[in-house]
Amino acid sequence: MATNSSIGQCATEAARDARSAHEQTLAGGPLGIVTRNSSPAVFVDHETGEIHTVGRNKDGSYRPILTPEQSRAKRWARKSVANRLLPESRVSKCMNWRRPNAGNGLADIDVCKGTHGKAFYQGLMACGDIWGCACCAGKVSERRRLELQAAIASATALGWATHFVTLTVPHGVGDDLDILLASLSDSLKRLSTGKYSLKSQLAKCFPGCTQHGYIRATEVTHGEHGWHPHFHILVFTSPDLSPADLRSVYSPAWQRACLLSGLPKPHDVHGVTVQDGTKAAQYASKWGLEDEMTKAHTKQARGKGITPFGLLDAVLDGTDPVYTKPRSSALFIQFTKSFKGRRQLFWSVGLRAKLDLAPELSDQELVDLPDDDRASLLATLDDDDWRAVRRFRQEAHILTVAESNPSLLRQVVQSLRDAMPVQEPAPEPAVAMPQPVVVPLDDATRDQLVLDWVNYRNSYLKGVHHGKATTKETAGSLLLSPENLGGSGGLDRLLASPGLLPSPSGSAQLGFTFDCAYALRRG
Ligand SMILES: [Zn+2]
Repeated sequence: MATNSSIGQCATEAARDARSAHEQTLAGGPLGIVTRNSSPAVFVDHETGEIHTVGRNKDGSYRPILTPEQSRAKRWARKSVANRLLPESRVSKCMNWRRPNAGNGLADIDVCKGTHGKAFYQGLMACGDIWGCACCAGKVSERRRLELQAAIASATALGWATHFVTLTVPHGVGDDLDILLASLSDSLKRLSTGKYSLKSQLAKCFPGCTQHGYIRATEVTHGEHGWHPHFHILVFTSPDLSPADLRSVYSPAWQRACLLSGLPKPHDVHGVTVQDGTKAAQYASKWGLEDEMTKAHTKQARGKGITPFGLLDAVLDGTDPVYTKPRSSALFIQFTKSFKGRRQLFWSVGLRAKLDLAPELSDQELVDLPDDDRASLLATLDDDDWRAVRRFRQEAHILTVAESNPSLLRQVVQSLRDAMPVQEPAPEPAVAMPQPVVVPLDDATRDQLVLDWVNYRNSYLKGVHHGKATTKETAGSLLLSPENLGGSGGLDRLLASPGLLPSPSGSAQLGFTFDCAYALRRG
């Protein structure tokens, strides 16, 4: 794989090639190395001989696009990070453990090749967690993408208009993701029920026009203002309704719903945007692809915030000054906890039947569907084979070998087995735990610190119980950890207390833990 800089360099080269190809075409000459002068372009990295595909940004510059094999490798790499961050979850067992066969032990791990030439594993457990697992997300979105496209095609055949609506709310760093999501669910409910529902408002403002149904997608990014959940909705209406008409109803309804749910008032202009069917079709065709085809976490791609899987890329990359490894890890864990069990796509009641689509399958049902009934079996891996493949993170590569050189498959697996160390080293801890630093303190300072901590803690807990602390039972030493485990603000005062040594990292964002018992009397 080429490095970032060489890709960047090649992208510039591709831009030059594209220009010269264009000039040559204009002059009636032969095409150069670039096959097409519109995006995506293909070019060769002269240093490595690797062939790259590049897409064109709006400003005319190029960005690297991954091939299907590279995208797959990226999914597995992201998955390996998620496995480490969520060691107790189903995600960490997915595409790792053998699937139980009903009443018949465990399934074999088969490497298969489908009729379309795509290789895949059969016999492994699939978690169906589209938020935490890049492999399952890839599989689910591939199928959902086809459904979205089918829905738009059916709607068009029925003579309906399709609109692309985006709903956002203002948000700040302090917003708690769980509370934010609960308030948003509440406001969405207000849009679909009662006198002020969108349907009744549309009927009132545009008599004779109908909203036939909608498909709502939930997305979230993280940016400088914290988490940013937002919704994209494909709205199907009678053809006589324009995007501007729809907006004139959606915008006040969304503002009203948000205010009633305790959210800040959505922006007059950006709170609701409505685009036409072209944008809806474009969104459906790229569903689930955008994030894995581009370098989602790089600063250039981050204009609209980093995506959850982009956070995993940042953990892998480890060089991002804003999304550092510990920060990205913590954010991803928080995200999966808050989104667990939530639906990514919501179809309004009755829409699928109107569009003549089969009943919806759950994410788990989708990942459990066989990849390809007529696939051919290329190899069966035993436990030692699989351990070696996993040990060297070659899961994606084995599939690429299966697709391009199936006769070499056994040999490649054997070479991995041969390279296995005789004794497995202890596995890496899931997330590197911050090592606490022990600070020696005299009794009085320690008692004061504990008191400060308890008071700080009580004021931080927003509940009605404000405790009174006593330091009577305190014992042991105060531990400071170099990572920021909690909030800040009140900590500064605490850290400025006399008797504390400066932290090894020199950072003002210290968190702290106690190994001493303290008594907290509820007042
Ligand atoms: Zn999974």
